[in-house]
Amino acid sequence: MDLLETLTQTPSVPGREDRIRKVIEDHIRSSELFDEVHTDAMGSLIACRRARPAKGAAETSPRKVMLAAHMDQIGFLVRHIDDKGFLRVNPVGGFDTRNLFARGVRVCTRDGDLAGVMNPGGRPIHIATEDEKKKVPIIGDFFIDLGLGPEEVASKVQIGDMVVLDGPFRDVGEYVVSQCLDNRVGCWAQIRAIENLTHHSCDIYAVWTVQEEVGLRGAMPAAFGIDPDIGIACDTTLCCRTPGVPEEDRVSVPGEGVGLHVMDSSMISDMSLIEDIESVAVKHDIKCQRAILPRGGQDGAVIQRSRSGVRTVSFACPVKYIHTVTEMSHKTDLESYPSLLTAWLETL
Ligand SMILES: [Zn+2]
Repeated sequence: MDLLETLTQTPSVPGREDRIRKVIEDHIRSSELFDEVHTDAMGSLIACRRARPAKGAAETSPRKVMLAAHMDQIGFLVRHIDDKGFLRVNPVGGFDTRNLFARGVRVCTRDGDLAGVMNPGGRPIHIATEDEKKKVPIIGDFFIDLGLGPEEVASKVQIGDMVVLDGPFRDVGEYVVSQCLDNRVGCWAQIRAIENLTHHSCDIYAVWTVQEEVGLRGAMPAAFGIDPDIGIACDTTLCCRTPGVPEEDRVSVPGEGVGLHVMDSSMISDMSLIEDIESVAVKHDIKCQRAILPRGGQDGAVIQRSRSGVRTVSFACPVKYIHTVTEMSHKTDLESYPSLLTAWLETL
């Protein structure tokens, strides 16, 4: 869990993935998990581990299997600095503004990180009108206060600087709670799955992709370059077994194991792959569950449609309160994720 905590506490929004890439790259290089590691022109980290067949296995030319976990998180870029030193931001990724009130933020500048707070403009409740109290603000209404004078802000902050919400990593009951479990869980599961591998007949290309949250942008050129036979997207999914959501809209159930997306709004998984994974799960007594996400996509969609098409499946860890700073994942689901990936990869 220490690695997952480090990943969630390393800020990296779409187009600004340098920091998280360095954490992952340092980790995989020091543990010598891969034969080759490089970063592509868009910034995705691509690591290849050549086949390591079991002793006595028949010689065949290895298939190429591509794993993809997006390493960006939803956040903001500074859009405007006003003459009082307040910042306005542009979102990179989908926020629900109802979750953005009174948030601690981190503004990442060339000279280091600045702490700040984010609120929508307007009067506090004591003096707000009835109409003002009912209004749900839009992103453009929010501003960041760094607690510094305008000259100091102007000298430190630049247009385009990355801003993330601040949220700690915590152990809560049977869950872990943190910001950006979407998708540091997928990044973490990919690393752990490779660490636990013994033998495999396929060449494995593990990719930590950029710019997923703004439209699956990094996975597409990565898939084109690798030209895989099988694609595996490693991401998260909704888990809405919570008050106020009808049972039929829950998408996934916490504690029932890692999710396999039968479909979401971006792709339909290859059903023969889902069935293969399920039989591996039964054989190894690992929990997993099918899920359908009516709205929302992930990197598997662009892998599936690259070149002349790729058989692709999507792994997705159930996450409650997704796209907030209190995302929650059940420890059983976290544990089953890399275990199932490892067991399946060993059959490919
Ligand atoms: Zn995601």
